[in-house]
Amino acid sequence: MRWEDSGAKGNVEDRRGKSMPMAAGGGLMGLIIMGILFYLTGDLGKAKRLADNITPMVLPKAAPAGGGAPVNPNDANLKFAEAVMGFTDEAWEEIFGRMGQRWEKPTLVLFSDRVDSGGCGLAPSAVGPFYCPASKKVFLDPTFFDELRDKLKGSSADFSRAYVIAHEVGHHAQNLLGYNSLLDQYRKKEGENSGIRLELQADYLAGACWHHVEKKRGILEKGDIEEAIRTAQAIGDDRLQKNARGWVNPESFNHGTASQRLKYFMQGFQSGNANKRALDQFFDPSVKPLDL
Ligand SMILES: [Zn+2]
Repeated sequence: MRWEDSGAKGNVEDRRGKSMPMAAGGGLMGLIIMGILFYLTGDLGKAKRLADNITPMVLPKAAPAGGGAPVNPNDANLKFAEAVMGFTDEAWEEIFGRMGQRWEKPTLVLFSDRVDSGGCGLAPSAVGPFYCPASKKVFLDPTFFDELRDKLKGSSADFSRAYVIAHEVGHHAQNLLGYNSLLDQYRKKEGENSGIRLELQADYLAGACWHHVEKKRGILEKGDIEEAIRTAQAIGDDRLQKNARGWVNPESFNHGTASQRLKYFMQGFQSGNANKRALDQFFDPSVKPLDL
C-alpha cells in the first residue's frame, strides 16, 4: 500500500509515554465496571474483554500525571495512523454525503500501556485496538502492530494495519448510523453472540470504505488484498489475544470466524455500498448471528 506522501491527514492524538495512575479494587467493583462498559459499548463481548483486563480502579480526574517522552511528529506509527484516518475520512465523507448525512470525524488515540478511554473506562494495551462509542474515539497501542507483523511473517503488513484501523472506524460509522442501539434488542434474545452482528458489519463497513479509498487514491499494491485475508485469519478467532495471554476466554469470540470476516470485508470492498439494505442484512432476525 502506498500511503507515504499522500497528504491525507486525519485526527490522531498521541498519548504514548504518558503515565496513567491506577488504584486497585476488585470483586464487586469489577462487576460494576463491566456493567458500565456493557451499557456504554452496547457490546457484551467487548465489555467483558475490557473488564477482564481492567484492574478495577478509581478513574483519575486529571490525566496524564507523568511527563513521558516528547512526541516525535515524524514517528512512523503516527504518520501512518494520520494517513489512514485521512483516507477513511475522505471515503466516509463521500458515503455519508450520498446518504444526506454529515460525517463526524473520529479521533484515533495512540497510547502505550493503558489509556483512559473517556467513557469506556481505563483500558490496558492487552485489550487490543478498540472503539469507544461514548467518546467517539479509536484507541490503539501500536505494539499491536508489532504482534501482527510477527504473525504475518515477512510481510510489511501496511494494508493489514490499515484494515485494523478501518474496522474500528467502521464501528464509528455504525455508531453514527444507530446500529449500536439496535443491537440492544438482539442482545436480549441472542445474548453474547449478538455482538457478531456488529463485528461483521464493521468488517463490511471497512471494506465499503476501502472501496472508495481505492477509487479515489489507487494506493493498493499487488498482494495487499491477500494480506487482508491473512490478517482476517490471524485475528479472526482472536488468535492474537490467545497468543498474547496464553489463554482464551471463549465468550470473547464475538468477532466471527476468519471466513466470515473475510466474506463481509470483500463484499463491502466489491460493492462500496453502505446503504440501509446492505447494512440491515446483519440485523436480519431470521438469520442467527453464527450463521451470518
Ligand atoms: Zn470490532
